[in-house]
Amino acid sequence: MNKPEISVIIPTYNEEESLPKLFERIFPILDGLERAYEVILVNDGSRDATLPLLLRAQKRYPGRVRIIDFNGNFGQHMAIMAGLDRAQGEMMITLDADLQNPPEEIPRMVRCVDDGHDVVGTVRRQRQDTLFRRTASRLVNRLTNRITGLSLHDYGCMLRAYRRDVVDIINESAETTTFIPALAQKFATNPIEIDVAHSEREKGQSKYSLFRLIRLNFDLMTGFSMVPLQAVTMAGILISALSFLFAAFMFIRRLIVGPEAEGVFTLLAILFLLMGVTISCIGIQGEYVGRIYQEVRKRPRYVIRKVYDAQEAER
Ligand code: UDP
Ligand code: MG
Repeated sequence: MNKPEISVIIPTYNEEESLPKLFERIFPILDGLERAYEVILVNDGSRDATLPLLLRAQKRYPGRVRIIDFNGNFGQHMAIMAGLDRAQGEMMITLDADLQNPPEEIPRMVRCVDDGHDVVGTVRRQRQDTLFRRTASRLVNRLTNRITGLSLHDYGCMLRAYRRDVVDIINESAETTTFIPALAQKFATNPIEIDVAHSEREKGQSKYSLFRLIRLNFDLMTGFSMVPLQAVTMAGILISALSFLFAAFMFIRRLIVGPEAEGVFTLLAILFLLMGVTISCIGIQGEYVGRIYQEVRKRPRYVIRKVYDAQEAER
């Protein structure tokens, strides 16, 4: 087999019901591209017949399938990370196994990468999820854009294409809690977002409970922003400043008019001031923690496109 040009990465977790249909649809499309490709299937600790099905697909579509079998459930993003780390292609495409992302969209995404885009993001047209998921998602997308300074219309859609150089950067940041689309967007130089179709999950159930969704969103928020922490510090400083003014006012009032209702408000002013100071202290501690987190994450601090050496200019 010659070196694949395109690597397709599919995380699977208890997807025995969806896999046969997925394979039936995706392989003809990839064959139709007429380029060398590989499909990397990651088994994220499934407890059903997922692994045997993956192995069967490997026999049935020889030379095109690689399987990574996790020894437990490490989550969708880790499964994709493992795939990206081992993918050989110049172009990587990720998609879900449940056919909510139609494989028919792949050729369009390949064309976008051919056109020079290093990250192809997608926005789910007429998203087929519950009203709750759609509303929550809209809120989260907007909030996340605000606090991370990124701009993505749909963080959750995992049908995405990346060029090798962006994936190299992603691989370099050995993060344990991460959110791949945001990471890619951060390091992309020429990203694009396209509309893609979205279908209902036909077989099996969503692997995300409400609790897991919330945890995932915390990964996204803490991974890409210190704004929540800074908000605490700012609130602390603001409360301290206001209470200080209040205390000063009470003090002056006491000198001129005399004590108010047995000094209750003076007491309150002092209490508020102390509270403000406490909140500021928590915020400041948080700032240190945030910096420690940035440090241990080992994300590349900058990315060089090219260095123009002196000798090169002379040639
Ligand atoms: N997935 C995974 N590990 C997990 C959860 C999900 O590999 O712990 C895979 C799952 O098999 C599917 C994709 O991630 O291919 C998206 O999961 P799901 O469809 O349940 O998410 P939703 O569409 O509800 O956001
Ligand atoms: Mg799904």
